[in-house]
Amino acid sequence: MTFVITTPLYYVNDKPHLGSVYTTIICDTIARYKRLLDEDVIFITGVDEHGLKIQRTANEKGIEPKSHCDEISEIFNNNWKNWNISFDKFIRTSSKNHELVVNEFYERVKASEDIYMGVQKGWYCVGCEEFKDNPENSSTYKCPIHQKNLEWKNEENLFFRLSKYQKDIEKIINKKSFIEPIERRNEIINFVSRGLKDFSISRTNVSWGIPVPDYDNHTFYVWFDALLGYVSAISSNESDPSLNKSINGGWPANIHFIGKDILRFHAVYWPAMLISAGMKLPEKVYGHGFLTREGQKMGKSLGNVLDPELLLSKYGNDAVRWYLIKDISLGNDGDFQNRRFVDIINNDLANTIGNLLNRTSSMSRKWFDNKVPNIEKRSNNNQIESLTKIAIEKYIDKFNTYKLDLAANEVLSLATKTNLYLNDNQPWLLIKEKDNLNVVKEIIYNVLESTRIIGLLLLPLVPDLSSKIDDQLGSIYKKDVPWKEQLRWGLLISNTSLPKPTPIINKLDYE
Ligand SMILES: [Zn+2]
Repeated sequence: MTFVITTPLYYVNDKPHLGSVYTTIICDTIARYKRLLDEDVIFITGVDEHGLKIQRTANEKGIEPKSHCDEISEIFNNNWKNWNISFDKFIRTSSKNHELVVNEFYERVKASEDIYMGVQKGWYCVGCEEFKDNPENSSTYKCPIHQKNLEWKNEENLFFRLSKYQKDIEKIINKKSFIEPIERRNEIINFVSRGLKDFSISRTNVSWGIPVPDYDNHTFYVWFDALLGYVSAISSNESDPSLNKSINGGWPANIHFIGKDILRFHAVYWPAMLISAGMKLPEKVYGHGFLTREGQKMGKSLGNVLDPELLLSKYGNDAVRWYLIKDISLGNDGDFQNRRFVDIINNDLANTIGNLLNRTSSMSRKWFDNKVPNIEKRSNNNQIESLTKIAIEKYIDKFNTYKLDLAANEVLSLATKTNLYLNDNQPWLLIKEKDNLNVVKEIIYNVLESTRIIGLLLLPLVPDLSSKIDDQLGSIYKKDVPWKEQLRWGLLISNTSLPKPTPIINKLDYE
């Protein structure tokens, strides 16, 4: 089974910000999880390069749009490698392959008689690349997202007959699974109920775009072009890419992961375009929230933009990933707070998970010749075994419904309970009596085994940390055995050598 997951194609007006890092980490986590379940994953990311805003940004820098895009797309590509993002496709919308697919798609939509020439008049935000619905005092109105004045446009454009698909779109968005979370779904239901209007898919004053066949001076509207990146990406590595190859190669997407500001394009325009072209629809559009910093909106003018590169070099991938996944409930807005960040990393990763591994491994090494204890017989009523089984079930259930914060919490809670089990049983006191040796062996084995499973459960969430746990337990994770099978209790082999414990994560200090 193919599982196609996409990040938005990021706009190349600037290098990646924390919001794009967040979305990409979430997709990476889901992609890794699906791969562990042996699904055939196509994880797509890339950049959206055309449009008036990019043309102007390049002009301001005194360079060609193409050079500007080359530079920024390279930054994105490298950036995802630095974050250890496991993407399979990186699509650039200025590539020839992409253009081919856009043209083929356009021909299909045209054949459905959904394209006509009309006049587009209205107030436009260049930042959003979107016409705004008749704001009052339009000449002084500022786009709430970009804080910039709108521009009046009056030009001949090609239009797409979105209005024709009113009924189809209503049906699709009424399906509970199509848009998540529910607040986003309600926004869209509301928007669609006001009646869908046709939208223009070409521009006459934008040279930095894909030329519309047979219409001189017209380039495709950036969204009509960019949305197709999800499709063109699939066949982008083939020598002879085409729309059909992409369709046969895995389309439709299972999930489009996006910020809530671009929901309309994905949940309304895009499905209508796909129906028109006779293509299957994505299964789900998930609109996540925005990130603030210490309770404040981040912005250049406020001077409080948090540079993700700085976070990465200072705290490392595991720490940032854990915080973003675990502390933000997916779909809601999230807030980055430095003190809270430090507390969470220290409590969860260093004290709870790291310390559990460290102290148990130390005891085992000290008492059992640097090895996992050799247990002769196991008791039937193993409390920690049942706790682990329940945690695994809950974790899988949360992951399957994209409740990643709750999945992370399940792992953490298992580590907390395992620590308690250790404290309650006090093997460091029991070991003083020779008669207790078998009991101590079993306690230590149980804790190490629970830790092994904790490490496996952390694999999609914090892959680097997970592999450090595996190293500390004697590198027992097997790539050729299905991950789910390795979650079975009791697979930790007695007498496995345990290396000298080192902290799996360093404690952080407040700024
Ligand atoms: Zn705007």
